[in-house]
Amino acid sequence: MAGGTASLRGPSGLAPRMRRASHAQNGRRDFCGAAGGVRESTRRTGGREVSRVLEPRPRAAPRSRESSAAAIAGSGHGGGAGGGAAAPGPGRAGAAAPGPGFPMMPSGATSHPSRASPPPAKYGGRHTVTLIPGDGIGPELMLHVKEVFRHACVPVDFEEVRVDAESSEEDVHNAIMAIRRNGVAIKGNIETNHNLPPSHKSRNNLIRTSLDLYANVIHCRSLPGVETRHRDIDILIVRENTEGEYSSLEHESVAGVVESLKIITAGRSRRIAHYAFRLARAAARRSVTAVHKANIMKLGDGLFLQCCKEVAAEYPEITFQSMIVDNTTMQLVSRPQQFDVMVMPNLYGNIVNNVCAGLVGGPGLVPGANYGHDYAVFETATRNTGKSIANRNIANPTAALLAGCMMLDHLRLHGYASTIRQAVLSSLDDPRTHTPDIGGPGHDLGGRPEHHLAPPPRS
Ligand code: ATP
Repeated sequence: MAGGTASLRGPSGLAPRMRRASHAQNGRRDFCGAAGGVRESTRRTGGREVSRVLEPRPRAAPRSRESSAAAIAGSGHGGGAGGGAAAPGPGRAGAAAPGPGFPMMPSGATSHPSRASPPPAKYGGRHTVTLIPGDGIGPELMLHVKEVFRHACVPVDFEEVRVDAESSEEDVHNAIMAIRRNGVAIKGNIETNHNLPPSHKSRNNLIRTSLDLYANVIHCRSLPGVETRHRDIDILIVRENTEGEYSSLEHESVAGVVESLKIITAGRSRRIAHYAFRLARAAARRSVTAVHKANIMKLGDGLFLQCCKEVAAEYPEITFQSMIVDNTTMQLVSRPQQFDVMVMPNLYGNIVNNVCAGLVGGPGLVPGANYGHDYAVFETATRNTGKSIANRNIANPTAALLAGCMMLDHLRLHGYASTIRQAVLSSLDDPRTHTPDIGGPGHDLGGRPEHHLAPPPRS
C-alpha cells in the first residue's frame, strides 16, 4: 500500500477494509458508527502533544489465540538492569507466560497474567501511549498509525514527545520519563550522527538501555501478495538488546589504536535465552537456534552459547541447535525455511533482522518490538530512518502499522489489533496499492528507493 496521508492508496484506503474485517470478525456495528460518534481532541503542553481519539465504549477483546512476547519479557527471569544471575526459568519454577502482544502469529497460547502485564487501562478502557515520531520517514509513518487508529476507533491516546538527532540529553530524558509514565511507546527511528564524539550515545540505544528493554523480537514471515525469492518463511528472531557490541564503550588507547568493548554477561545471556525458549514454548515452536561466533570470540560468544545450552536443557520438548553467524547468514539466504526461533547477541541480531526483513520483502514490511520487564516500545523491525525517501509519500507504512498492532496486542486490545492487521495484510493482496519498495506503481518512475529491496524473480 502506498504511504503518505495524501495518497488514496495510503492508510485511509484501509478504512473500508477495516469496516469489512470488523463486520466479519465481530459481527457488530460499523466502525465508529451506530454505537456513537468519534471525537478527536488535541492539546499541546510544551514539547508534548496529547491527541485523543474518543470512542464512547471500548470494544471487548474477542478471544485471541495470539501468544505473548510481552508477557514473557516480564515473567521474572534474572539478568535485570544490573545483569545479575538469571532467576529460575519456567522449567524449574513455573509455567511459561504466554499472554498478549505477540507479533503477527495466529498460533500459540492465550493470554496469561504475568508481571509483564501491560499498564491497566484508564477510565473508560482507554490507554495512553507515548509516541516518538523520530527522524526521516518516522513522522509520516507515525501519522499513518494515528490515522488508522482513528478510523478503527482504537481507545488509545497518544502523548507525543519529540526526540530527533538534534535533541538534547534533557529531551531524551523527558521521552524516557514519558515511557515510564505510560508503560508503552511506539516510535520512529531517531537518526544518529556518526560524526559526534563517542560519548554521544545513540538516542535509540539510550531509550532501550535506560528502560532495560532487553528483548527485541521480530517475526519475519512471507506475506500475502508480496513477491519474494523464497516462500513459506516464518521465523521468530529474538535479539539481546542491551549489551554486546552496543555497550558504547570505546577508547583510543594509543593514537591509531581503538578498543571497542563487547560486553557479554551470563545473567543477560541466560535472560534472553529463557525469553527465547519461553516464546518458543508459548508459540508452539519446534526449535531454537542460537547464533554466535564462539570459534573466534571464545570467551564472549562462548559464554553466550554456554548459557543458551544450559537454558535449553530446561526445555526438553524444544530442539536446540547452534550456528555460527557467517554460516547462519548464508543458510538464511539459501534455505530460510529451516529456521524457527533464533536467539542471538545484539549485533548479530541487527544483521540477521535486516537479512530476514529483506527475505520477506524489505524494511517497510516487518514490525518489531522491544520488551522489558516493565516497559514495551514498538517500532519497525529494521529501525530505518529512510531519510532519502522522507516526505515523498512513498515510504511503506506496513511495518509501522503492524508495529501498532503488536502494541495493541500488548495492551490486550486484540480485537482492534486483528482488525487492523487483517486490513493491512489484505491490502497487500492488491498490487495497485503497493508502494515502490515492493514493486508498486512508481518503482520504475523515479519513485523507486535507492536501494530497492523488492522482489527478484522467484527461483
Ligand atoms: P537513507 O538515506 O534513506 O536514510 P540509509 O542508508 O540510512 O538511507 P536506512 O534508513 O537504513 O538507510 O534504510 C535502508 C533502505 O531501506 C533505504 O533505501 C530506505 O529507503 C529503505 N526503507 C526503509 N524503510 C522503508 C519503508 N518504510 N518503505 C520503503 N523503503 C524503506
